[in-house]
Amino acid sequence: MIQAAFQIEPASPGAMLRDEKKAGTPLGIEADRLTSCGQLVPDRMIVGLVESWLEKNHSNAFVFDGFPRTIGQAEALEELLARLAKPLQIAFFLDADFETIRERVGRRMVCETCGNVVAIGLHIETAEDRCPRCGGRLHRRNDDDEETLKRRMAEYREKSEPLNSHYAGLGLLRRIDANRIPAEVFADISSAIEA
Ligand code: AMP
Repeated sequence: MIQAAFQIEPASPGAMLRDEKKAGTPLGIEADRLTSCGQLVPDRMIVGLVESWLEKNHSNAFVFDGFPRTIGQAEALEELLARLAKPLQIAFFLDADFETIRERVGRRMVCETCGNVVAIGLHIETAEDRCPRCGGRLHRRNDDDEETLKRRMAEYREKSEPLNSHYAGLGLLRRIDANRIPAEVFADISSAIEA
C-alpha cells in the first residue's frame, strides 16, 4: 500500500532471503537453516543484503520491511544512510497483540512464482486458491507454524524490542496500532509520512 500510494520502493530482507533460498545460493541455504527454526540470521548477512540493495536502488525514498531487527543493524543502517546523505525519517512500530499475530500467521500464504503475500479470508478464499496477482501456486512459509512462531517472538523480545527505545530516543518512532484492518493501519502510516 505504501509503494502504490507514495511510489516508495520497499525492501524486505526476509523476502530477499527467501529469493536467495529459491535460487539455491550458499547464503540462501545457510540463512534457511536459521529462519526455518525462527532464529534471526547474523547481522553481517542482513546488512550485506541491504547494502547491495541500496547500491542498485538509486531512488530518493525507500521503506524497509522487517529491518533493522537488532541494534547492530540499526547502527549499520545509520552509517549506510549517512554515506548516502539520506537520513532516516521515520521508524514505524507496527504493534500487534500475540493473538493477532498468531491468527495472521495461520492465514498467510506466499506465491511461489511472484512472492506476493496473501491472507486466507482477505485476498483468497481457501489455501487451494491460486495467486490473485499472477495465478502462481501458493504455499505456507516454512516458519509460519506455531512452534517456530514462539521462537520468533522470543527473538523479537530479546533482540528487536530494544529498537523501540532506540528510535524513541532519536525522536523517530511512530507507534501504530496494527491490530486493526489494513486500511486503518495504512491511514495512520500515510498521515505520518505526509506530516
Ligand atoms: P520476515 O519475512 O521479515 O518475517 O523474515 C523471515 C525471517 O528471515 C526472520 O524470522 C529471520 O529469520 C530472517 N530475517 C528477516 N529479516 C531479518 C533481519 N533484519 N535480521 C535478521 N534476520 C532477519
